[in-house]
Amino acid sequence: MTLTLYNTLTRRKEPFEPIDRKNVRMYVCGPTVYDLAHIGNARPIIVFDVLFRLLRHLYGEKHVTYARNITDVDDKINARAVERYPELPPTEAIRKLTEETTAQFHKDIAALGVLEPSVEPRATDHIAEMRVLCDELVANGHAYVAEDHVLFAVASMPDYGKLARRSLDEMEAGARVDVAPYKKGPMDFVLWKPSKPGEPAWPSPAGIATPGRPGWHIECSAMAGKHLGDVFDIHGGGIDLVFPHHENELAQSRCAHGTPVMANVWMHNGFLQVEGEKMSKSLGNFVTINELLETTNFGGKRWPGEVLRLAMLMTNYRQPIDFSVRNLETAEKLLDNWYRAIGDVEAARASDFLAEVEEALRDDLNTPAAITHLHTAYDAVRAGNEVDAPARFKVAANMLGLLLSGETEWKKAQSSGVSIDGDAVGKLIAARLAARKAKNWAEGDRIRDELAAMGIQLKDGKDPQTGEPITTWEVKR
Ligand SMILES: [Zn+2]
Repeated sequence: MTLTLYNTLTRRKEPFEPIDRKNVRMYVCGPTVYDLAHIGNARPIIVFDVLFRLLRHLYGEKHVTYARNITDVDDKINARAVERYPELPPTEAIRKLTEETTAQFHKDIAALGVLEPSVEPRATDHIAEMRVLCDELVANGHAYVAEDHVLFAVASMPDYGKLARRSLDEMEAGARVDVAPYKKGPMDFVLWKPSKPGEPAWPSPAGIATPGRPGWHIECSAMAGKHLGDVFDIHGGGIDLVFPHHENELAQSRCAHGTPVMANVWMHNGFLQVEGEKMSKSLGNFVTINELLETTNFGGKRWPGEVLRLAMLMTNYRQPIDFSVRNLETAEKLLDNWYRAIGDVEAARASDFLAEVEEALRDDLNTPAAITHLHTAYDAVRAGNEVDAPARFKVAANMLGLLLSGETEWKKAQSSGVSIDGDAVGKLIAARLAARKAKNWAEGDRIRDELAAMGIQLKDGKDPQTGEPITTWEVKR
């Protein structure tokens, strides 16, 4: 049985054959660490974690290398750092922001049941490799220096645009009129640029005297090349990265190394919408992973990370996903049933159910089909005729990174999920006490009802020392 994967480069499903079965290599573009990761960022993290698990299962844990980078040098980072920490010198502000954001990212995605990648390279640790790439590209005529920038000469690459299926003529015709005057071609893109005072800066390549910093695309080329080699098996990311990011990554890497491809298979997960609308800060439907896990902002409750994971996997990774409270509720209900059925049993090592899930995943990561198999397996568990059914079911779910814990832990995660923003409760209680003091009983009752709807039960009493009315609260279970 083979693994087939849809390849954006060829626009078809193809049997996957690794370059080296002893070292299957995958690169996925990671976050730019200037802000909290949103649920759109969670999708590739979860999708490629399933692929990582499948590859480890097929080729052996020691025979898969998964690199997912951290982009910690970027104009958005610079701008946000100065805004957030105006009192600090810019380089310190940037370090503080990227460290904090990276730590938060790790914390958020740990709740999603993802394995750590084999390597997590950071852009700032690979500046030397980026400089070498720039020098090589200038030396072999694929890049040029202009006004202290290094630019990639798109016209030097006959099949530029192949991944995105865009012709150079079309792209040039669509290019904005205000193309920087130092560019030879309107689609030429930045590999390296000069830094202004206060911006992060490193010695520049290609004989440029002014210190500078890398463009975004060159970062991934350098990190992928260093950790996975000039040509590797799978390159992944969200569909929004196909152009220009991945097109430019592969242009740089291929032209620097003189190889026909950068990665054999290019995989992209589909877009994510929220309740039928594009997620955006201006629409007010922008949801971070952290908000789902830690606040009641989305659907009035906190959600265990596993619910988010299952909700994502219910849609095929290439399809657009409509993320909704309803999806989360469905996923939570399923997990509830499944955990109740398996209790705290240990997973079996292998099983018929696992074989079915594996077969679905071998078909271009068909997670909806895999979940359908889990429904059937669950029915068998519920029928109760086979004592080992729960363990056989659990190992199958584990393949998708689900049911990794047991019922006891799941219940704990859920009850912490009923949680409550203590500050908000405190403010409401204070407002209610003030209303009652003013003999505005109607308002006091209204606030009591509002709290009750959040699952908060109030207890009125008197402070034994002062005799003042006080109110304590607890969460109703
Ligand atoms: Zn990238």
